[in-house]
Amino acid sequence: MAQEVEPIVRIRELKKDRVNFVLENVDMAMANSIRRVCMADLPTVAIDLVEIESNTSYLSDEFISHRLGMIPLLSTNCDEAIRYTRDCTCSSYCAYCSVVLKLDIKCETAHTKVDVTSDHLEPSGQYGVDEGDAGEELGKRVEGFGLPVGKNDATVPPILIARIGNGQEIKARCIAKKGVAKEHAKWSPCSAVAFEYDPHNKLRHTSYWFEQDEKAEWPLSENAKEEEPPRDDELFDFNAKPNKFYMQVETVGSLTPQEVVLRGLSELQTKLASLMVGLKSGPDLDNDDSNLPPSVPQTNGAPATTSWGNGAATWGNASPRPAANSWSPTGPGASNSTWGNASPRAGGAWSPGTAAASNASWGGSPAAATGANAWGNGASSGWGGSPSGAGAGAGAGAGAGGANAGWGSPPQQQGGWNV
Ligand SMILES: [Zn+2]
Repeated sequence: MAQEVEPIVRIRELKKDRVNFVLENVDMAMANSIRRVCMADLPTVAIDLVEIESNTSYLSDEFISHRLGMIPLLSTNCDEAIRYTRDCTCSSYCAYCSVVLKLDIKCETAHTKVDVTSDHLEPSGQYGVDEGDAGEELGKRVEGFGLPVGKNDATVPPILIARIGNGQEIKARCIAKKGVAKEHAKWSPCSAVAFEYDPHNKLRHTSYWFEQDEKAEWPLSENAKEEEPPRDDELFDFNAKPNKFYMQVETVGSLTPQEVVLRGLSELQTKLASLMVGLKSGPDLDNDDSNLPPSVPQTNGAPATTSWGNGAATWGNASPRPAANSWSPTGPGASNSTWGNASPRAGGAWSPGTAAASNASWGGSPAAATGANAWGNGASSGWGGSPSGAGAGAGAGAGAGGANAGWGSPPQQQGGWNV
């Protein structure tokens, strides 16, 4: 059994753009969740719309727009300092949900080329005529918010956008917006987030390919000094689990490494909290959308009006009585908050609920659908339920009569997550 011990964090290095720390007494899922949330779930600002007035350079408008989008912009306190356009009352962009930068440069010297760089991006201060409802966002911005990272700092080399020759010019308005890297990688505050564990490969999670001598061809990493090397006569402990992770977070400068890790943890907390709320909410919330998180994909453009399935606000098919906010079709009378399918007698997976299926489960089984808040009924440590409640093995799905592989696909189910 795992011991109840507190996680330990030991910071080994902290620089302006990176942090290296050791995380102990957590499992791999936790370490990986931190990694992923830092990479993909933290909001920053990045150029999202470019209005090109004039471009006589060698590069096409699209090429330049893409390069502009990838320039990291200072995004300190992005949670409070700027809104998502989708949450704003303006129709396209305004001071509360965007930062406007302008680029206006012309080469007027013969025989010399001019480098157009991120240093040439200047705050414009001019927004659309369509002002959104006033808010407190502007007061929460730090100096230089939304400007390219390292602008006005001689120690940071600017980012090259294009090189223009005599008579050529680029004139553009760039509208930077708030977003997350799940939507586009340009919003990621990190260039790399990685961790290493088990540097001696005691757990044998890695198979080393070698020609002559494994040890000579696979030198140990620096982190190996932190752990005891295995003895030659040591038996392989197949129950051992990693619990010490050497994390390295590198940022692009839009956020500091401290902010990335701390906001990442709080984002993870928020996600888990909403999952708990989602799982707890059951019969009381019957068809009451107001208490459930929105299930339409969120983007910076116009709010999506259609869902990813046929049913309203579901990711699946519509059924005679579509349950609100489920990720899948539900049959008559089926519950809310399931990720499941509703076809009768479907086995295993992210799925089936039936007329009698329980609420808030990740798959109920017709015969054993009694336990609410379970991740599948009947199956022992599977993610899916089995029609008879007969034990599915560890793994996803595959109860009696259920699927054989994957995350469970009942016989009635054809391709995809739902039918
Ligand atoms: Zn706005």
